[in-house]
Amino acid sequence: MSEKKSYGFTTTILHNDRQKPIEHGSLHKPIHTSVTFGYNDARQLASVFQGKEPGFRYGRQGNPTISALEDKITKMEDGVSTLCFATGMGAIGAVFQALLRAGDHIVSSSFLFGNTNSLWQTAAGQGVEVAFADATDVANVEAALTPATRLVFVETIANPRTQVADLARIGRLCKERGILFVVDNTMTSPYLFRPKTVGAGLVVNALTKSIGGHGNALGGSLTDTGEYDWSAFPNIAANYKRNPPAQWGMAQLRAKALRDFGASLAPEAAHHIAVGAETLALRMERASASALAVTRMLEADERVAAVYYPGLASHPQHALASDLFKAYGSLFSFELKDGIDCFDYLNRLKLGISASNLGDTRTLVIPVSHTIFFEMGAERRASMGIAESLIRVSVGIEDTADLLDDFRCALD
Ligand SMILES: *Cc1c(COP(=O)(O)O)cnc(C)c1O
Repeated sequence: MSEKKSYGFTTTILHNDRQKPIEHGSLHKPIHTSVTFGYNDARQLASVFQGKEPGFRYGRQGNPTISALEDKITKMEDGVSTLCFATGMGAIGAVFQALLRAGDHIVSSSFLFGNTNSLWQTAAGQGVEVAFADATDVANVEAALTPATRLVFVETIANPRTQVADLARIGRLCKERGILFVVDNTMTSPYLFRPKTVGAGLVVNALTKSIGGHGNALGGSLTDTGEYDWSAFPNIAANYKRNPPAQWGMAQLRAKALRDFGASLAPEAAHHIAVGAETLALRMERASASALAVTRMLEADERVAAVYYPGLASHPQHALASDLFKAYGSLFSFELKDGIDCFDYLNRLKLGISASNLGDTRTLVIPVSHTIFFEMGAERRASMGIAESLIRVSVGIEDTADLLDDFRCALD
């Protein structure tokens, strides 16, 4: 099959493996479990080690199954190259480990996935200053910049309160100042939004979530979009500057984070994620449509105190989200009126499962303040706009009518 520019998102994913020779005409890239790769000529092994020719050497730094998935993610994000990690946090941790040094400063959205928030506390303890800014308005990000700011980090739609970052304006600001813009695209996925279009240099995806999509494999990725000029980045070590400047960032990330810290994706997980990714667009469309229907129903119910979903006209960044995203995603959160216990409500749901993953085929619900955001304490929760009774919902691909029934009956 020869490459043609005009294939759509799903066609591209389905046929990407066949762009390169694939063993025995297999339609899936096979799962390679070998930890190491042998060469008949020892000189060739040396030349692979020295980066003079492509090839695999040891599983921690790469493997044909993972490489095929990386290639697919690069296509999904319209990027230049991708590195996969064992988890989404492995990918975000890599940014910290490989690219930041004591004395550096970063600006992060204050609306963040809880473990990313915790990681930035670790960074702060190791000499990286982290300024949190309300990223729904570029002015707050601009005000937080210092001459030592190495990167700006935001999520597209924040987990769990669904604040939407002022992505295009922050991207422009970072371009003007030569600052690396890192966007966690997990909530939108490359089907709903490509951070490259707003100037992001690095894109994070927790593959565990919508891309894998079935709750059966952990994984994460970093994609270099080609938008950032790495020659402007002060923390690249001399040995990675032997590559062309466009490759500096990923060369250092591969060695300093993936190789040296070893949060490598397992080939079996890469296979599950690659198969899951084939239906990403279909799942996102169904889940986004159901999320809109369920949130409209909840918003109209007087027993519900607040509903947070970028697809609702009442959402403060509804217009921004409509400009940026193909649909509004599978995640929403809501608060019940005082007097309705959130645990009792969750226990009455028959389809919504109390569990902490998201982007799954099944609808998952969680009382945020008592679980995933418990450790950070009430004060930090309040600063992130997270009420004690907040329920987060990751809408699955069940039939929309069944979900509407389930969320309504649990109120009745
Ligand atoms: C889940 C999640 C992560 C981390 O992914 P894991 O694979 O669970 O480590 C990072 N960012 C966001 C927005 C997430 O939802």
